[in-house]
Amino acid sequence: SKDIKVALVTGGNRGIGYELVKQLAQKGFKVILASRNPEVGHEATQKLKELNMDVSFVVMDVDNQESIRQAAITVNERYGRLDVLINNAGVYLDENEKLLTMDASILEKTMATNFFGAYHVIHSFIPIMEKHGYGRIINVSSGYGEMREMSHQGVGAYKLSKLALNGLTQLVAAEIKGDIKINAVCPGWVSTDMGGPSAPRTPKQAAESILWLATIGPEGPSGGFFRDGKPIDW
Ligand code: NDP
Repeated sequence: SKDIKVALVTGGNRGIGYELVKQLAQKGFKVILASRNPEVGHEATQKLKELNMDVSFVVMDVDNQESIRQAAITVNERYGRLDVLINNAGVYLDENEKLLTMDASILEKTMATNFFGAYHVIHSFIPIMEKHGYGRIINVSSGYGEMREMSHQGVGAYKLSKLALNGLTQLVAAEIKGDIKINAVCPGWVSTDMGGPSAPRTPKQAAESILWLATIGPEGPSGGFFRDGKPIDW
């Protein structure tokens, strides 16, 4: 049916992204699980299909503009629409060094994935949303509160990439026309490969705290940054 909505999650093969795919499918979306690794991505998709979920796979490395462009062509051919886009793929590469003393390649790689990755994905996929004048874009970011404490521990590259992502969210929101909304969200500290085993939140709880932004109405926010449904500073 043409009323079935389509959602895409980058880095959907594990961690918070995998749980986002699962919960979007449970909400009735046709979900595209995007992963940079074809085998791992297929395997994760297969696991969800076996649970009778409407999930398909697309390969997408957000560090690679050509890969993003190809994925957008595939999504357009397969569904001709995109209702929800979640920029979830991210890396944490800091090694307890300050911005002024770190190997600059750490900052460049972090920005390439966490900032430019999201930028290029938005750039390539917004035209599909514009065809129907509707879209909800969610950028998975990280909050200032924790960041301020973390900055003493040498996480400047990660922090800067997420500040840039929040800035992008705000600026793009002001440019978008039609009922297309873009927001950033902090999932809290989550027990994934990135968050480590002592994190208090499960990926399931994190995904629940993110997904309200996928279904906000035309009066809902755009250009904001949220944690647990509340606007936060960055
Ligand atoms: P994980 O490390 O568990 O998963 C990261 C995901 O991103 C993987 O699917 C990984 O793919 C994918 N990825 C990384 N680089 C690329 C790339 N170039 N192209 C495509 N996919 C890529 O992290 P989380 O699930 O914890 O994090 C998800 C998001 O949440 C991130 O943006 C992170 O910054 C954010 N976040 C996490 C917090 C936490 O406490 N965990 C706190 C605040 C924010 P692959 O398997 O191929 O490596």
